[in-house]
Amino acid sequence: MIKAKASDELVFLPLGGSNEIGMNFNLYGFGPPHARKWIVVDLGVTFGDQTTPGVEIILPDPEFIEEHADDILGIVLTHAHEDHIGAVSWLWPRLKAPLYATPFTAFLLREKLRENSACLEAEITEIPLGGSLTLGPFEIDFITLTHSIPEPNGLAIRTPLGTILHTGDWKIDPDPLLGDVTDSDAIQKLGDEGILAMVCDSTNVFVDGHAGSEADVRVALTNLIGGLKGKVAVACFASNVARMDSVIRAAEAAGRRVCLVGRSMHRMSAAAKSVGIMEDIEAFIPDTQAGYFPDDKILFLCTGSQGEARAALSRIAEGTHSQVRLGAGDACIFSSRVIPGNAVPIRNLPNKLADRGVRLYTERDQPGIHVSGHPCRDELAQMYHWARPEIAVPTHGERRHLLEHAAFAKDLQVPQTVTPRNGDMVRLAPGRAEVIDEVPSGRIYVDGGVLTPENGDALRERRHAAFNGILTVSVVLDRMGKIASGPQVRALGLPTDEAYPLEDVLDDLAGEAENAINRLKGDAREVDDEVETAVSRVVKRAGQRIWGRRPVVETTVLRI
Ligand SMILES: [Zn+2]
Ligand SMILES: [Zn+2]
Repeated sequence: MIKAKASDELVFLPLGGSNEIGMNFNLYGFGPPHARKWIVVDLGVTFGDQTTPGVEIILPDPEFIEEHADDILGIVLTHAHEDHIGAVSWLWPRLKAPLYATPFTAFLLREKLRENSACLEAEITEIPLGGSLTLGPFEIDFITLTHSIPEPNGLAIRTPLGTILHTGDWKIDPDPLLGDVTDSDAIQKLGDEGILAMVCDSTNVFVDGHAGSEADVRVALTNLIGGLKGKVAVACFASNVARMDSVIRAAEAAGRRVCLVGRSMHRMSAAAKSVGIMEDIEAFIPDTQAGYFPDDKILFLCTGSQGEARAALSRIAEGTHSQVRLGAGDACIFSSRVIPGNAVPIRNLPNKLADRGVRLYTERDQPGIHVSGHPCRDELAQMYHWARPEIAVPTHGERRHLLEHAAFAKDLQVPQTVTPRNGDMVRLAPGRAEVIDEVPSGRIYVDGGVLTPENGDALRERRHAAFNGILTVSVVLDRMGKIASGPQVRALGLPTDEAYPLEDVLDDLAGEAENAINRLKGDAREVDDEVETAVSRVVKRAGQRIWGRRPVVETTVLRI
């Protein structure tokens, strides 16, 4: 290990994942302030919602580190969840640093990178489980943890100014079914050596006790599925390969064959097989043949547990899936978290299935058929007990999670806590941990395949149009600005009313537009922009009067 110079600093800089669950993008920097070398830990996405119509994927904005791209020594990925690797194929072309991951993560990453031709030169170095890697002043050990996907890794990052334990996502599962148990020896040993800072998962900080074990879920699913008649569908996250495996074993025990429904189920089972997991199971039944099996001899393992519109389960619920039908006497098990309240799609999905006569089972009424992959308070306490860090840096949480986690760490006698927001640069050493700088951070929307800034015009206009409707005005003028035809007004997404039907409204708006043009001075009428602005203003104002809102108005002037 090299020695630190007096001007060297060790900094932590989250550019995503601090103040939100998702979009993890963490940086560690070492060196004097004007010449830091960086490593990136994770580069994930988050997903759009009703406030981002048409935008499904959201990326962290890499602007700050893009300017220092030559000083990025490597991008290290802890595990293959989308909120940790999903942005790599989008942003790698801007960072162009070497990639490091364990084999399962590397398999999935390679598939993603293949989809973007700008990533052809991206090189992934596979690190074995429990392996090590040196990037300049950073000596990194991969520590096996347990989570809800194969190969979750914590990182012990040794630097000349101290060691960081970056946990990634984890829980303490005494029987994870696939993969090893949490390498508590490695963590305790690291704790004995001295951990400067632990950057740690905050997802379940409000939940007492333990997250629970996958082994218990297997028992619960086996019991439940064993007692069911009719067709059975089970929805879970495909990336939870241990869960998939449990469902498959439960189906076998109940004399049912398994049919995978949904692309990511196939993708994940291929990734699992690539690292030697799930090799000894019976072949899956293609969905085209599932119909030949008696109802009580088949089980559908489906994507779409969160109500994603295009996923298998939504199509089954809509009755639009080409092969799979569920109805009265059939059962659907949600072996996944039930997202509370705000997500509308998930509320519709169970209702649509219930309407078909399908009996539903969720973690609410069937305790034990799902467990979280993140640490609850007892597990956090255990981790702090093993690691004994000098500084607690909560991450992977909304503001309230991070603050609660910091308070909890204080209760556990951790001497220092710091709760940065995205863009806050925290100096971990030398001296007390504190925020020393604020750098640009934000979000980038993937909008129709195009990367656009968070507050870009397209989405703002679309949102505005979605809430307020659209009016288009077209008018034909001659060179001198005399109206030759129109104006004609059309409406999209605006309500009509018997007392004042839309047709009449549009005629009146056309009249107002005509007046606006006639009020213009002669030479202004010869300029398209002037006419368009005047017409739009009048029509917008009229819209406000009629509907109490301001529709998007698009005016087109044609000349003859
Ligand atoms: Zn995560
Ligand atoms: Zn995860």
